[in-house]
Amino acid sequence: MKPFYNFLKNAKVQFDFALFSFAMQKLRRLAAFLLGSENCAVCKKQNVFLCNSCFCKTFALAKNVRRCKKCGRILNNGKNYCVDCAGGNIFSALDLALPVFAYTGNRKKLLQLWKMEQNRQLVFYFARFFYKYYAKYFNSIVLVGVPPRPGKIFNQGWDQIDDLVLVLQGKYKLQFAKMLLRTDGLQQKYRSRDQRINGGARYKLNPRYKGTIPKKVLLIDDVLTTGATLEECAEVLKSAGVEQVFALTLFFVPKAEK
Ligand SMILES: [Zn+2]
Ligand SMILES: [Zn+2]
Repeated sequence: MKPFYNFLKNAKVQFDFALFSFAMQKLRRLAAFLLGSENCAVCKKQNVFLCNSCFCKTFALAKNVRRCKKCGRILNNGKNYCVDCAGGNIFSALDLALPVFAYTGNRKKLLQLWKMEQNRQLVFYFARFFYKYYAKYFNSIVLVGVPPRPGKIFNQGWDQIDDLVLVLQGKYKLQFAKMLLRTDGLQQKYRSRDQRINGGARYKLNPRYKGTIPKKVLLIDDVLTTGATLEECAEVLKSAGVEQVFALTLFFVPKAEK
């Protein structure tokens, strides 16, 4: 028994085993995707990843929902602002945010299947519903994605917003500008003195866009939590000369209401 036990304790063997099971998991998923043998993630009945009736039910919006006039969260209390926005201004650079759905129930489950469990084919469903709201409220405005945090692509291999942008560009022919870059992904020597001292801004204008700044821009992200990230991005875009900055996110994290 002892040699076998030592064999299992070997770090290299453990690593190889982890790699092997990871590869098998990917292969199984790819096969399921190609052969269509995985059942609907919501109803477990239909032989597709997310069946059409579950898609429609999950992403159906009640008519005449009331939204916070600042951050766009859906309100249930007849007031004009949510608790946070009534208390103070979260958004000053950002002109308007539309976070479409509450991040709850099956919607939360699907986003987690997409982001955390890496079911990348879900991007087509999210892109479909994203496009619906884009066409309705923000038609022909240039899209700008919120850049992923540093190391994410390296660790995970992909970023859900990059995928979303690819589908929106390729399938829906939307115009996209990579106007924002992360500053904290850069090496210290590339950061300004101010940034090094204060921790500074996390985003900066992509120098490629100097001189070709669009008048209106639509930021896109998956979940609106506090809104701080969107506001920070909007500040950079406004100081670069963009006149109006809007944001469209798939979900918002609901707040308790007074
Ligand atoms: Zn279903
Ligand atoms: Zn609000």
